[in-house]
Amino acid sequence: MEDIIQNISHVLQRIDSACKTSNRNREEVKLLLATKSVTPERIKIAFQNGHTLIGENKVQEIREKYQDLKEIPHVMHFIGHLQTNKIKEILRYDVKCIETVDRIHLAEKLQHRLAFENRQMDVFIQVNTSGEESKFGIHPEGAVELVKSVSGFKNIHIKGLMTIGLFSSEKEKVRKCFQLLKELQIEIKKLEIPGVEMNELSMGMSGNLEIAIEEGSTIVRVGTAVFGERKYPDSYYWNERKEVI
Ligand SMILES: *Cc1c(COP(=O)(O)O)cnc(C)c1O
Repeated sequence: MEDIIQNISHVLQRIDSACKTSNRNREEVKLLLATKSVTPERIKIAFQNGHTLIGENKVQEIREKYQDLKEIPHVMHFIGHLQTNKIKEILRYDVKCIETVDRIHLAEKLQHRLAFENRQMDVFIQVNTSGEESKFGIHPEGAVELVKSVSGFKNIHIKGLMTIGLFSSEKEKVRKCFQLLKELQIEIKKLEIPGVEMNELSMGMSGNLEIAIEEGSTIVRVGTAVFGERKYPDSYYWNERKEVI
């Protein structure tokens, strides 16, 4: 239990110093705890210490933890790959933002269901900035077009962009991914598309949050550095084959 609190404070120190070295206002950067595979008991330790922004990758895990977690007010983002056949179910839980809208087909289905339920949803557009075939996310060249199309959906509100970026120890290659997302944000802002807000850039994880903050991140998504290693490889959460509609 102690370790979670200590780990969070260590991560906060890293965020603080990255803000300082890059001349960023500390208030611009939020810590989102990536809680995949973490039990509600452990997540609630973070909540009780005031860290209430979390992200889950699988609808099934949201369902399993829902009753336990709802005792404590918190904000949930969805940060995994969303299959269209899970839209109806994800809307049963209090998900504030779907960070991973990466194709028009998904947005269409989401809009349809939201309209049916007379509800609204915040989203980020997920961009594949690393060019890796295995990663989800819209190709950077298609991002502006996707934002334009999704902006037409009345019940969906675009708040920013999200990327995972390259896993590499070569920092400059990782940095390029984050720079690309920032450039897209600027390009899209300039277009002043009605209904589109571009204030959030969700990028940076345990291993590279400093680089992400230096390049303009407003939300760092941190799992391992707070909760320790996961028992499943990340491929279990991310690299599901892409035939999924
Ligand atoms: C798991 C996960 C993270 C956090 O990764 P860590 O390396 O454990 O900090 C961030 N973003 C997404 C989309 C994730 O699935």
